[in-house]
Parts: sequence; C-alpha cells; structure tokens
Amino acid sequence: MNLAETVNAVFQQKFGYPPLHIARAPGRVNLLGEHVDYNDGFVLPAAIDRATYLAFAPAHTEQTTVWAADFAQGAVFTPQTLAAKTQPDGSPLPDWARYPAGVMWALRQAGLETPALHAVFASNVPRGSGLSSSASVEMAFGVAWQQLGGWQVTPMELAKLGQRAENQYVGVNCGIMDQFASACGVEDRLLWLDCRSLEWETLALPPTVAIVVADTTVRRKLTSGEYNNRRAACEQAVQLLQAELPGIHSLRDVSLTDFNRLAAKLPQETHKRARHVVEEIERTQQAVALLRAGDVNGFGALMNACHLSLRDLYEVSCPELDVMVEIAQSLPGCYGARLTGAGFGGCTVNLVAQEQAPAFAQALMAGYRARTGLQPEIYICKASAGAGLL
Ligand code: ADP
Ligand code: MG
Repeated sequence: MNLAETVNAVFQQKFGYPPLHIARAPGRVNLLGEHVDYNDGFVLPAAIDRATYLAFAPAHTEQTTVWAADFAQGAVFTPQTLAAKTQPDGSPLPDWARYPAGVMWALRQAGLETPALHAVFASNVPRGSGLSSSASVEMAFGVAWQQLGGWQVTPMELAKLGQRAENQYVGVNCGIMDQFASACGVEDRLLWLDCRSLEWETLALPPTVAIVVADTTVRRKLTSGEYNNRRAACEQAVQLLQAELPGIHSLRDVSLTDFNRLAAKLPQETHKRARHVVEEIERTQQAVALLRAGDVNGFGALMNACHLSLRDLYEVSCPELDVMVEIAQSLPGCYGARLTGAGFGGCTVNLVAQEQAPAFAQALMAGYRARTGLQPEIYICKASAGAGLL
C-alpha cells in the first residue's frame, strides 16, 4: 500500500466515511546556496519525491481533528484553543500538532477561512534529517485549507504563511526556502530563489542525473546556538564593511572583488564566515550559468567547493559528514557531493549519473558503515512537483 492509500484507509477507519481529497506536499533538498538565505543570497533547492500525504474532509463542527498516522496519535483544536496551544479538554497540543495548528493560526491571521477538518496524515520524509518534513506537513495542511476555505493564494504566498506558522507559532526560526521548495517544486527541475526579492524560476536538471541524499544518522547537536552565532558573525561583517561600503545592507551586496580588498580589516573568524557567504553567493550565480549550459561536471565541482567552504570557513561540518562526502567523491558517477542543511550532522546531497546511482548508493553505504560503524540511510531522489491535491 502506498502512503496515499494508507491515509485513505486510516481516514475511513477513524471517521467512518471516505476522505474528500488527498493532499501531497514534498520534502526538499538544497543543492547549492548554503547558509546564504539569511544573507539575502540565492538558493538552489529541489522538491523531492518523498512527501507528506494528507487525507481530509470538512468536519462540519467547530473542532478540527487530526490523526498523525506515523505516531498513531490524534489531536483536536479549534480557533478558540489556538492561542493557548491546547486541546478543548485543556491538555497541551502534542509537539507535532503545533505544525497543523500553526498553519490554521497563520491563515486566520491573514484573514483566510479555515473550516474545521477531519484529517489523517503520514509521510515518508524522514523527520529531523534536514529534508524539511516540517514544511511538508505545513504545506499539506495549507493546500487542504485552501481547498475547503474557498480562497486561493499563490504557492509562494502559501509558503510564506507556512513559514510564519513555523516562526511564530511553532517557534522555529527557519528561512523561507523549505516551504518555498515544498510549495513551488516542479518535476525534473531545480528551483532558483532570490531570498531577498523572493523572485524565483526553475532550471532544467539534466535527465541523466539523480539526486542522492545520504543521511549520516548523526543528529545536529547545539545547532541553534551555533546557528545564531554564524548569523551574528555575518551581521558583524556587514557592520564592519559598511565603514568602507556604506550602501550595503547584507553580504549579498558585497562583491567578491570588494571583499578581497577589504577582508583583512575583519577579525579572523568573522573573515572566514563572511568569505564563505560571499563566495557561496558567487557560486550559486555561476551554477545557474553552468546549468543553463548543461554542464553537470561544472555544477558538481561547485558542490564540492561548497563542502570545503562549509567545512573550513563556515565550520559547520562534522567528521561523519566529511567521511560521507569523501567516500562519495571517490566513487564512479559522482559529479559532486556536499553536506546540505544547517550542518553538524544530518544529510549530504550528491549529484550522480542516473544509471550509476544504485551502485553508488550501495558503495556509499558500505564505505560509510566500514569507516564509522554507523548504518546510513540513502535515498535516490527525483526532483518532484510541489504541494497540491492528488
Ligand atoms: P525537518 O528537517 O525534518 O523539517 P524539523 O525538526 O523542522 O525537522 O521538523 C520535524 C518535526 O515536524 C517533527 O518532530 C514533528 O513534530 C513534525 N513532523 C514531521 N513529519 C511528521 C509526521 N509524519 N507526522 C507527525 N509530525 C511530523
Ligand atoms: Mg523543518
């Protein structure tokens, strides 16, 4: 049984009638442009063919009843219980239920109708590995309320509302990339997003390549502290560079030439952090030209350069990520490999020749297990369509 069939069957079992619709919203992986979203840079993610599936129907009551099939747990909320983050019986919402409740909250803040739902969802996006399972849950519920609420917004607007839910209701300080990719994904295409203007477009991914995601199974520890500290370093660099470049608002505004001329004035650590960002923004621009020219080798080389920069300048890698990347880069058919996401564990992303992807995955798994004693998860992915109804 696939996940759409599962949520359909579980819905029928829980509510005693079939769902009206099934929504699907994918996870995502970022191929290039890491730690640049909060510096107004460019990112190059793709929605992947792993997704959250949500079976739903209008509840015709005040209460929204949500069943998380992966946890075999339910939760209930109403517009009146949203602010307190509780259920009608006064018990706190389970952590996972804050994502759907947050979406309802953000939509209502924006003046959009959110009729009560009966809902069952399940997902094959791994949780907490950096493939944005949270955004996929949010976008699935966004699609459901859009369908039943009698309103329509652009996928980018829906993404912004999901981000607001996660930032302000769940309390996680994420950028727009996750919800954007889940909402706006296009089959077989990479997405290019300008994080400042939110302009975006799609770029062809050559049909001969596969995106392979490898989960080190090491989970990020203390990331929020490290993450805030990297953001602070970027802000400090902007402040110091403003003495010479008064027009700049973020590292996005600093050309590599200006940076090279002025970098010596920055404290050593700030210099390293800012150099990663300025060079990474440069790489994403080169990458677009290379993709347009169909140059997969060139694109892969930029991914490899990105990993070195994240390891040595931004210092957000860890031994397991470095081992996974090193093995990948030594295997046949690998164009490029790097850590993806915030770092300190989680996944690597690899661009691999399609026909060699299964052998690559096998060898990477065996090599990583031999070197670390850990059993990785490896997903051969296809760039997929964004959130919508099945
Ligand atoms: P990720 O990188 O996967 O987005 P997050 O920590 O941002 O990691 O989000 C993971 C959280 O999202 C989970 O702990 C859970 O609360 C919620 N979530 C994701 N997928 C599911 C699911 N299938 N069922 C219930 N909750 C989910
Ligand atoms: Mg998330």
